[in-house]
Amino acid sequence: MLEKMEILNVEKLIGDFEVMTKDAENVQRETLKMILEENGCAEYLQNMGLNGRTDPESFKACVPLVTHKDLEPYIQRVADGAFSPILTGKPITTISLSSGTTQGKPKFVPFNDELMETTLQIYHTSFAFRNREFPIENGKALQFIYSSKQSKTKGGLFAGTATTNVFRNSQFKKAMTAMQSECCSPDEVIVGPDFHQSLYCHLLCGLIFHEEIQLVSSTFAHSIVLAFRTFEQVWEELCDDIREGVLTSRITFPSVRSAMAKLLKPNPELADLIEKKCSRLSNWYGLIPELFPNVKYIYGIMTGSMEPYLKKLRHYAADVPLISADYGSSEGWIGANINPSLPPESTTYAVLPNIGYFEFIPLKENVEEPKPVGLTEVKVGEEYEVIITSFAGLYRYRLGDVVKVMGFHNSTPELKFVCRRNLMLTINIDKNTEKDLQLAVEEAAKLIAEEKREVIDFSSNVDVSADPGHYVIFWEISGEVSDEVLKECCNCLDRSFVDAGYVSSRKVNAIGPLELRVVWKGTFHKILDHYLGLGAVVSQFKTPRCVGPTNNKVLQILCDNVAKNYFSTAF
Ligand code: AMP
Repeated sequence: MLEKMEILNVEKLIGDFEVMTKDAENVQRETLKMILEENGCAEYLQNMGLNGRTDPESFKACVPLVTHKDLEPYIQRVADGAFSPILTGKPITTISLSSGTTQGKPKFVPFNDELMETTLQIYHTSFAFRNREFPIENGKALQFIYSSKQSKTKGGLFAGTATTNVFRNSQFKKAMTAMQSECCSPDEVIVGPDFHQSLYCHLLCGLIFHEEIQLVSSTFAHSIVLAFRTFEQVWEELCDDIREGVLTSRITFPSVRSAMAKLLKPNPELADLIEKKCSRLSNWYGLIPELFPNVKYIYGIMTGSMEPYLKKLRHYAADVPLISADYGSSEGWIGANINPSLPPESTTYAVLPNIGYFEFIPLKENVEEPKPVGLTEVKVGEEYEVIITSFAGLYRYRLGDVVKVMGFHNSTPELKFVCRRNLMLTINIDKNTEKDLQLAVEEAAKLIAEEKREVIDFSSNVDVSADPGHYVIFWEISGEVSDEVLKECCNCLDRSFVDAGYVSSRKVNAIGPLELRVVWKGTFHKILDHYLGLGAVVSQFKTPRCVGPTNNKVLQILCDNVAKNYFSTAF
């Protein structure tokens, strides 16, 4: 266990990683053996007829591939406080809530000490590689992290989002100190009951410690962009607080107020300095290095559904490097970013062979009868769906993510995140993924960039209420744009879906003209608030990019806020 102020031995961590990845196949066998030995007495595994066998062949023959839905009754019994071992040998004491942005509602998944250990392992591994290329000195991190309340399930288990469970764990703080990445905000701000108030205080803490800030981070990059967009709105208020040494009355929670009062002293020089810095920026370009002169990099998950925020993030970051954080989920971790100098668009994740047992369903084969392959059997250039067997009671669990194998680090694959498998725009023979949507939006957004406008956020839906069905794209834009340009954007979106099934269906009108709906400013904030109301946290929030029928509340928010709409005339 790490003691306070112990600094990580990065060369040893890298050495251990090299040894382990050179022998990934054996490490996988050993890992599976450990998982099955530790949990063999659990009801779920007892019913599978493994009879003590722990080899991959028996495991695959006896245990079926499952989705969350299949495991839900078991997880529910755990949450309800069942006494006997159900999914794991040791009792589960905590439940994680996934962000639920895909399905529309958060899912319950088990969380335990082993999952916390793997979290620390992956943090340490990627830190070791990162620190070799971008060393940080003893300083502080401006971390936009938010921990929701932990509640109790019917059976008395703690329940919180996975990030909450991690941030509230005593090991987390020690790990951050060991990685010289101690959060500049007090705990009361991180666990504050209102995210808007916590965000304001994070910004204030960042300014108070502005010279010490070595990195700016969050779990997902969305939170960083949201934070600096908020800064644009509240910077004068922040300066007033610093000048007077008195926190704005908008911050109402006593615990947060008293924690901030300990840090906030009247500092007119700092207030003047920040005002000067802000006034010399053009359209907030380079805001981050201007405010934090010693920042070494910006860190958070930047791939997949976070890619659309990179443009804005680069605008705030100027030439400060953007480094994508690791790849994982509430269900378990998968891979670490060990090539931190690559831009997020090229980031890959090297799978840690000892943090779970991994299988991969090849996507080019028959998807009706999936035949998963092992970690070391994947092929470069192919796409796969990820299957996890974890230390926290998930066995052959289909995560629903699609990854592409870009290469190998020793014998472990380096994965590129492609998309969520079920996030798909499809009406008949067309198939457009979240990535296809992102590319189409990027292309069309160039037309409004000429008018110095940007797409703040976007989503989509297939409207099959009339025949033929058509794609609907929702845009929130940073300001006014003429009808003429928006009509052109709509046509451009329609033309930018280049999937052969879509183009041919459009040509014969088997899919109707694409519709662009421009929503009022603040609509995507309402969506965020909707998820927060369901118990999600900002730290794990991902804007739902394709809103399916299970997510009708979000669809309703989008539809209720349409300011203008346009139909394509591209075909
Ligand atoms: P949640 O458990 O709700 O926090 O969401 C986990 C999901 O977030 C994963 O299954 C992925 O779809 C996505 N995700 C996590 N890490 C990354 C990453 N590094 N790049 C892209 N997507 C990610």
